[in-house]
Amino acid sequence: MKILWLSLIAIACHQNCLAQDAIDPAIVQKIMQAEFAYSHIPQLAQGLTDQSGGRLTGSPGFKRAADWAVQEFKKWHVSYAGTESWGPFGIQWEAESFSLDAVTPYYFPIHAYPVPWSPAADHLQGEVTTITREQSLDADWLQNHAAQFKDKFILIESTPVDTHKNFGVAATRHDQAALDTLKDTYMISSEEMKHIQVYLHNLPVCRKALKQAGAIGIIAARGNSDNGVVMNQATYGFRKNNPMVLPEVDIANEDAQRISRLKKVVLKMNLQVKASTEEVPGMNVIAELKGSNPQLNSQVVMLGAHLDSWTAATGATDNAAGCVVMMEALRLLDSLKLKPGRTIRVALWGGEEQGLHGSFNYVTNHFREKKTRQIKPSQSNISVYFNLDNGTGRIRGIFAQNNTAVVPIFKKWFAPFDTLGANTITLHNTGSTDHLSFDWAGIPAFQFIQDPVDYNSKTHHTNLDDYDHLQIEDLKQAAVIIACFAYQASIRDEKLPAKAIDNTPFIFDGF
Ligand SMILES: [Zn+2]
Repeated sequence: MKILWLSLIAIACHQNCLAQDAIDPAIVQKIMQAEFAYSHIPQLAQGLTDQSGGRLTGSPGFKRAADWAVQEFKKWHVSYAGTESWGPFGIQWEAESFSLDAVTPYYFPIHAYPVPWSPAADHLQGEVTTITREQSLDADWLQNHAAQFKDKFILIESTPVDTHKNFGVAATRHDQAALDTLKDTYMISSEEMKHIQVYLHNLPVCRKALKQAGAIGIIAARGNSDNGVVMNQATYGFRKNNPMVLPEVDIANEDAQRISRLKKVVLKMNLQVKASTEEVPGMNVIAELKGSNPQLNSQVVMLGAHLDSWTAATGATDNAAGCVVMMEALRLLDSLKLKPGRTIRVALWGGEEQGLHGSFNYVTNHFREKKTRQIKPSQSNISVYFNLDNGTGRIRGIFAQNNTAVVPIFKKWFAPFDTLGANTITLHNTGSTDHLSFDWAGIPAFQFIQDPVDYNSKTHHTNLDDYDHLQIEDLKQAAVIIACFAYQASIRDEKLPAKAIDNTPFIFDGF
């Protein structure tokens, strides 16, 4: 009998909890109307892209964006907005001018972008010699062939341009079949990660061998760098104790192929850079809207996206898009005077592209010791962390990150957004971005499922990642959903249920 009563009470509690999880339709309506009629997404996106420029971690562009975001937050009724250092990061670097042209056998321009943290190249001129990617990563081979690199630009061979892909579609949305069959989604598998560790160790060693042999610069076309797209990113070089030793640039594959086909090409390169001699600290932007419920407002609902980008464009889809959506969600809650119960905190991270440095160090500074893996007291104040970092595509659902207890809650929360195309909840994990830091600290942490659009074909880490490639209507939809999720998490009686804490060291699938 007693057992029966206890189970009846348990069922009643469960139903009560689920009942409180239905979002008030009037709130949803208010947020939708405000966003679809008076969105600030375009202005916010221009502030972080056109006005700030590329936002390489530690660079003046990053600082422009961070300062701009803080000032923007302060226009609203935030209880706090400012930058927060996470500790040492690396070299402050920016390019001041750059050109790369062929001068022999005739003049032609090269579509090229300097690799961040590359050293300067002061009006260098030299012939090109081509080596394979395998040779470029074989220190012994490079030493044995050292004589052929003196005063040469080294072109690392790339595969010919794949013209078949031009018959395909550049931008896509998830269809139902794709949503139904989502799996664990990592940019890099754990198997690939092992090879990458070896590569990361080997690369600086091989570059030093080329430098010692007298090479004057490295040019290469990364995968996907064709049809007007040039991928541009750095693999290492931001640490003072592991700097890049040769000027290095990413070029269009069509140019790389043309140089390879021509017998003798002489290039002229000029790269002027401003780089600090000492390392600078890494920065995150933090803003808070104080919760209105005195019983709950010491607890926090966190929204986050990374502010840093690469430099060939202005990082519009990676990831001004996510930052703008999180800022807009906070602005909606404030301007509509919805009075969230718990405090809402937005974090715009630095250092994501170099390996989740901003979010991971924030987590180790506040929530969990890095070495001992001890949980810190303030960890228990965080109800949930929501992240947006998969491009400009609208939200289609959420990766529940193996947290079965949140599934029925998210089902209720997504119910009003069926008509906006967002209703998929998968238990699968997704990786490569900042929610992983929080997940490691035992905080419920989630990345939304987003439509791919042209993220993988055109904008991710490329020269085309500018404001023009944002899908503004998609970002409005995302801001509506995240504002509603943040509000609902803030007024819920309980924090969101957490998984058991994993006692393994932090690993992630990116660089
Ligand atoms: Zn990103």
